[in-house]
Amino acid sequence: MENAQIPRENVLGQIGRGHVIAFNILNNGRYKLGGTALGSAKFAFDAALDYAQQRKQFGTQIADFGMIKRKTGQMVADIFAVESAVYRAVGDMDADSQSQGNDAAAKLASMQNFAMECSILKIAGSELLAGVSDESLQMFGGYGFLEEYPAAKYVRDARISRIYEGTNEINRIVMPRTLLKKISSGEIELTVADGDNPITQMKNSFATCFNAARQHYGDSKGFDANQEVMANLADMMIAIYVAESATLRLGQMDSAKQVHRDSVALVTLQSVARVNQLGGELADHLQVEVPVASATGDLLALRQAIADAVNEEGRYAL
Ligand SMILES: Cc1cc2nc3c(=O)[nH]c(=O)nc-3n(C[C@H](O)[C@H](O)[C@H](O)COP(=O)(O)OP(=O)(O)OC[C@H]3O[C@@H](n4cnc5c(N)ncnc54)[C@H](O)[C@@H]3O)c2cc1C
Repeated sequence: MENAQIPRENVLGQIGRGHVIAFNILNNGRYKLGGTALGSAKFAFDAALDYAQQRKQFGTQIADFGMIKRKTGQMVADIFAVESAVYRAVGDMDADSQSQGNDAAAKLASMQNFAMECSILKIAGSELLAGVSDESLQMFGGYGFLEEYPAAKYVRDARISRIYEGTNEINRIVMPRTLLKKISSGEIELTVADGDNPITQMKNSFATCFNAARQHYGDSKGFDANQEVMANLADMMIAIYVAESATLRLGQMDSAKQVHRDSVALVTLQSVARVNQLGGELADHLQVEVPVASATGDLLALRQAIADAVNEEGRYAL
C-alpha cells in the first residue's frame, strides 16, 4: 500500500487517525461477541431442555432428576446474569453516544469510554457459552457426542469465542490496565465505600486489592508484569459487574417473578464466594487485609426452584 493514491472523496475518517478506528473495532467486536455468545447459549440451553423433557430413564423424564435440575437452574441464572450485563453495557454505550450527538465520532468515543465493559462482555459471554454448551451436551448423554444431534455443534462452535476478538487472556490484561489508566488520569476514583449490601462489599474487596496491587507494583509497567495478579483483579471485576447488572435489572422490572429473584440471589451468592476466593488469594500474595463480602441463602434450593420454573416454561423465558 506504499504510495497508494486515494481520491480525496474516498478517504474514510481523518488521515493519521486510522489507529483510533482500528482499536475501536476491537471494542465493537467484543461487546457484539458477548451478545452473540449469549444468544448461542440460549439456543444450546433450549435444545438441551427440550431433549431432557422428552428423554425418559428409569420411568422418569430426565429433566426432573435433581442432577439435571442442578444444571438447568445454574444455566438459567448464568444466562440471566450475562444477559443483564449485555443490556446494561450496550444501553450505557448507546446513551453515552446519544448524549454526544450520536454521529460516527460519538459512537467511536462511546466504545472507547466503555472499553472495560466491552472486555467484560467478551469474556463473560464466551465463558457462559463454554459452560452452557458443555452442560447442554452432557444432558444429551451419548447422543450429545453425535453430530446428528445439535449439542456437538454448539460445543464445537463455542470454542473459538474465547480466542478471537482478543483472547480472553488479552482481555483480562486490558481490563485492569485500562482501569489503572483511568485512575491515573483522574477519570475514575477507586474508593472503599460505606454500605453493607453484597455488591458494595464486593466492590470494597476489589478496591482494596486493586489499590494494594498499585502500591506493590507502582507504575503500569510493574503492574503489567504480574499477570497472575491481573487475572484475579479482572475476574473480580467481571463477577462484580455481572452480579450488579442482574441486581439492577431486577430492580427495574415491573413484574419480576420468583424465578428472577431466585436467579439474582443465586448469582449474588456465587459471585460473593468467587470474589472472596480471588480476594483471599490476593490478600495472601500482596500481604494485605482484604474485607470479606457476605451473602446468605440456600444455594442448592435456589437452583432447584429455578429449574422447576424453567421446566414449566419449557425454554429459557426470563
Ligand atoms: C476461526 C477464526 C476466525 C478469525 N477471524 C479473525 C478476523 O476476522 N479478523 C482478525 O483480525 N483475526 C481473526 N482471527 C485471529 C484471532 O483474532 C487470533 O487467532 C487471536 O487473536 C489469537 O492470536 P494468535 O492466534 O496469534 O495466538 P497467540 O497470540 O499466539 O496466543 C496463543 C496463546 O498465548 C496467549 N498470549 C498471547 N500473548 C499473550 C500475552 N501478552 N500475555 C498473556 N498471554 C498471551 C493467548 O491468550 C493464547 O492463549 C480469527 C481466528 C480464528 C481461529
